[in-house]
Amino acid sequence: MFAVESDYQRAKSYALTKDQAYEHIMEYSHFKNDGAIEREFVDESADNLRWLNKHGVDFEVVQISPKEPETWHLIKNREQFVHGAALVTALQEHAQKDGVQFLMRTPANTLLYENGKVTGVKAKDHKGNDIVIHAKAVIIGTGGFGNSPKKSTSGPILMEKISNRLCR
Ligand SMILES: Cc1cc2nc3c(=O)[nH]c(=O)nc-3n(C[C@H](O)[C@H](O)[C@H](O)COP(=O)(O)OP(=O)(O)OC[C@H]3O[C@@H](n4cnc5c(N)ncnc54)[C@H](O)[C@@H]3O)c2cc1C
Repeated sequence: MFAVESDYQRAKSYALTKDQAYEHIMEYSHFKNDGAIEREFVDESADNLRWLNKHGVDFEVVQISPKEPETWHLIKNREQFVHGAALVTALQEHAQKDGVQFLMRTPANTLLYENGKVTGVKAKDHKGNDIVIHAKAVIIGTGGFGNSPKKSTSGPILMEKISNRLCR
């Protein structure tokens, strides 16, 4: 994971600042990126790692090539789990402690509406049975966002719309 001014970099006396990292990213992308989104990405990156630390994820900072700044934080193994699996299992354990139930092999296929508001989803369980899950809020996190030029360019607007709806 990318991060700058992280505790791992501080521990190695690595002096790259958020401003320098931001300038590097913008220059590398020929200033075609959205500056405000990049700035937030850089500014929040170390806090993301701190949050993950609190949830049991540990990192190791590395430099992937001699020309690149030392901003890569590799996820350390957790028991038999490596890389992404180590990250996901740490978060899953925490979510389960907070009462989150995971339904594996249960693809959602329809959103349920009442009076114009989303109230749940229909899904198929791992045996092929139809199931209905009622919910106060539904967050669609099914991936593929990066493959849609339309969605990725309207990202912040879309997120604003979603959060406005959830807050209502
Ligand atoms: C080869 C590769 C390397 C990458 N390397 C990096 C990297 O080094 N650094 C980086 O930052 N990013 C990297 N990325 C990008 C990163 O993996 C994605 O941006 C990120 O995983 C997207 O997260 P997401 O939660 O939106 O979607 P996903 O991670 O795709 O998660 C979506 C989940 O929803 C589930 N799902 C889909 N449909 C349904 C349904 N109907 N009902 C229920 N569940 C459903 C899927 O099974 C999946 O588990 C890489 C991507 C690839 C493919």
